Amino acid sequence: MTAKKIDGKAVAVAMTEETRIRVERIKAATGIVPGLAVILVGEDPASQIYVRRKADQCRAVGMMSVEHRLPSDVTERQLLDLVQRLNADPAVHGILVQLPLPPHIAAAKVIEAIEPAKDVDGFHPTNVGRQVVGSGGITPCTPMGCMILLKQELAELAGKDAIVIGMSNIVGKPLARLLLQEECTVTVAHKATVDLEEKVRRADIIVSAAGAPALVKGSWIKSGAVVIDVGINRVERNGKKTVVGDVAYEEAGHAAAITPVPGGVGPMTIACLLQNTVEAAERALGL
Ligand code: NAD
Repeated sequence: MTAKKIDGKAVAVAMTEETRIRVERIKAATGIVPGLAVILVGEDPASQIYVRRKADQCRAVGMMSVEHRLPSDVTERQLLDLVQRLNADPAVHGILVQLPLPPHIAAAKVIEAIEPAKDVDGFHPTNVGRQVVGSGGITPCTPMGCMILLKQELAELAGKDAIVIGMSNIVGKPLARLLLQEECTVTVAHKATVDLEEKVRRADIIVSAAGAPALVKGSWIKSGAVVIDVGINRVERNGKKTVVGDVAYEEAGHAAAITPVPGGVGPMTIACLLQNTVEAAERALGL
């Protein structure tokens, strides 16, 4: 394996330290502690782990973290009422609703209820629209983390052929837009894409966010490509439960650089969330 292993964890640690310093500055200037409210509905084990990690890291940088755990049978109205209360609470600078929500709740309706200035996930249509037209807006955390890692590896993104596998609103679509903004030539692939292999083979930048283990084979990867693996897949290997990405990592030695799973994009997502929250607090406080 000669490909460089992109250490997302180390980059995330450095970013988090910068956020900690910004939190200190806010406290010194205003006496106010930046606050993130996290809403978790139901008992999904993966969501519980993510929420706990987010809360722990929030506290580690000196921010206030308030968790709202609601039962899976909570009504949409009750959830919307909670979002409204948090919108109006001056101690809360960021609001995050952990997805997925149970099927009886319309996630889009809940996201639209969040005050755009507090939407630190960057999923509200106002933020999405502002990002698309380039007039500010909060950038979604995982795509932001991918772009930071890519920019570390490539001095110039303009002119590169990039493929994004996956077209979800939270990863694939915003990532494609961010790459386009950097003047990459972007292909967005998805479940209905015909001949994915041929499209991946052309790419200088491969980002996979499909949630499909070993989807991207080593033989598909162009020599010297940079590979960002967003996928998180729980699989069983040799009788042991383990987490893998979407890319056949062991076959990707001829890539220039690749993110491991775990330890690549995952830690960057939380680091970007903390950065978005501290920025939301700075804006709310006029700093
Ligand atoms: P999603 O299910 O909403 O979307 C998956 C997308 O991938 C869809 O657009 C689908 O068309 C496409 N897809 C699925 N299988 C495919 C295939 N075989 N070929 C081509 N395209 C295919 O998922 P999501 O929420 O965008 O998440 C994607 C993956 O990224 C998941 O594994 C998720 O766990 C992971 N994820 C990781 C982080 C992180 O911080 N590292 C954050 C968010 C999501």
